[in-house]
Amino acid sequence: MSEQQNNARDSLQDKRHTLAHLLAAAVAKLYPDAKPTIGPAIDNGFYYDFAFSEPITEADLKKIEKQMRKILPAWNEMVSEKVTPDQAREIYKENKYKLELIDEIQQSKNDITLYTAGKDESRDVEGYTDLCKGGHSENPSKDIPTKSFTLSSLAGAYWRGDEKNDQLTRIYGLSFHTKEELDEYKKHLEEAKKRDHRKIGKELDLFTFSDLVGSGLPLWTPKGTLLRELIVDKIQNLQAAYGYERVVIPHITKKDLYEKSGHWEKFGDELFKVKGQSDQEFVLKPMNCPHHAQIYASKPRSYRDLPQRYMEVTMQYRDEQAGELLGLSRVRSISIDDGHVFAQEKDIEHEILNIIDVIKKFYGSLGLFEKGKYWVSISVRDPQKPADYLGDTQMWKRAESMLIDICKEQDMKHKIMPGEAAFYGPKIDFMFKDALDREWQLATIQLDFVQPERFNLEYTDIDGEKKRPVMIHRAIAGSLERFLSVIIEHFAGAFPLWLSPVQMTIIPVTSDFDEYGTEVRRKLQREGFRVEISNESETLGKRIKLAQAAKTPYMLIVGEKESKTGSVAVRSREDGDQGEIILDDFIEQTKSIIMDIK
Ligand SMILES: [Zn+2]
Ligand SMILES: [Zn+2]
Repeated sequence: MSEQQNNARDSLQDKRHTLAHLLAAAVAKLYPDAKPTIGPAIDNGFYYDFAFSEPITEADLKKIEKQMRKILPAWNEMVSEKVTPDQAREIYKENKYKLELIDEIQQSKNDITLYTAGKDESRDVEGYTDLCKGGHSENPSKDIPTKSFTLSSLAGAYWRGDEKNDQLTRIYGLSFHTKEELDEYKKHLEEAKKRDHRKIGKELDLFTFSDLVGSGLPLWTPKGTLLRELIVDKIQNLQAAYGYERVVIPHITKKDLYEKSGHWEKFGDELFKVKGQSDQEFVLKPMNCPHHAQIYASKPRSYRDLPQRYMEVTMQYRDEQAGELLGLSRVRSISIDDGHVFAQEKDIEHEILNIIDVIKKFYGSLGLFEKGKYWVSISVRDPQKPADYLGDTQMWKRAESMLIDICKEQDMKHKIMPGEAAFYGPKIDFMFKDALDREWQLATIQLDFVQPERFNLEYTDIDGEKKRPVMIHRAIAGSLERFLSVIIEHFAGAFPLWLSPVQMTIIPVTSDFDEYGTEVRRKLQREGFRVEISNESETLGKRIKLAQAAKTPYMLIVGEKESKTGSVAVRSREDGDQGEIILDDFIEQTKSIIMDIK
């Protein structure tokens, strides 16, 4: 980041922080017995937590915001004053929260400072003072445009984030350099809300949660299951061409496996533990790599057997904290399209190119593998700390420069990230931009020099010597739950034709044409399309609205004319009314659309 960018960012943080003070000042004016606690700057603005004597509502935010704007013109500086702990305690003797903060600052031996804004002795105006360590706009009335901020919402928050403490009221505000930037951000928020995968998931009936089953454990409906399977089939079909073989492993395992792999310590509290009948301890698997390593280890391997390529789509389990769970983005049961290649070092490059090929084709079919929509992050060692990494140094060096060369040769925009590699090997992650310009890390390819060592994996080389294979971990979609949360929001539920659970809805204008409609459906199904028929239980207009709301790519309306000519009246989700098309021609057209993306 350039210094200029840094300064711009600092000054925005300073403005946001200053606005938190202004919010506290407005609340003090309107609610004299409310107690201010803590109010920091955050990513899109600021917040402040208060203990109100009477609860306030969202409707009160307008009033507070108005008060902020009224105060702001008098804030032409923020004056600091160092005070002793006892002076500070005297000032805040009525506020137990600030008293607790003062104790902490005193214990940490830092200075206690108060900042005052809006004081005007000539007019006997006191201004507003808050306990703070600094970082404000120099002249808030000049630096902060009155329309560049707004109060956005209310929430409950516990003092210090601990549910054993008092519940406070948090007021959130949004703030940017200009009103235009604020408006742009608000539009973005609106759009994100409309696209929220939890909302669309419900509307399109893709998945559900049950209190009895538990939070973070999604249940997949028939349509959602179809969506998952379409993705899985696509990945498996693309990979079959590169010699991947499917394997299956159980979902519980002895803890010994993870002790040996080194994951026991790493996962700690995130592991779901299972008690067997004997005293043996089992866990629900949090990952699949060590199991696949055991399949490799099940018999002697020669250089002729390599590479071994295993893949499976399977669930793994991590006991995330309830507060961290969010729709499909963060779950406890994670379905992952997991794959591992065990290869000789000389074959690594070839294997990585094959995986990149699958990634290109898969994300290409979603319109995401286009210049400007993705980039590749290459994680390498921190050159200052060579001792932090296990495995042969020369092998590390070769692997790192190979990954960089591959990205160059493939003309993929990339960034080298020193210090980001895991201790066991370098990796590349594919970062994709969605329709709202948000960035997501989805596919990944990781080299691993350590697991083969831990599990003593070997092959007999051409010279008769026993050697270690390299393990390559790879995921194309990664967690299917997270992947789906991203693409549901990216497409706002309007999936490409190949991925739509229902591709076409046939709508007979009246029940007289149900028979023809059924005939059309049968023909389309025989051609491999996923088709629904919407019979006359509702008006024609209502049925068309329903198909639109379901984001079905095609509506095929059939009546007198169509049944006589063997055609359908086509309405495309993207291109609107296409008029009457002979059914066979329509089949050819849509097939070629699907073929194009294969
Ligand atoms: Zn401050
Ligand atoms: Zn793995």
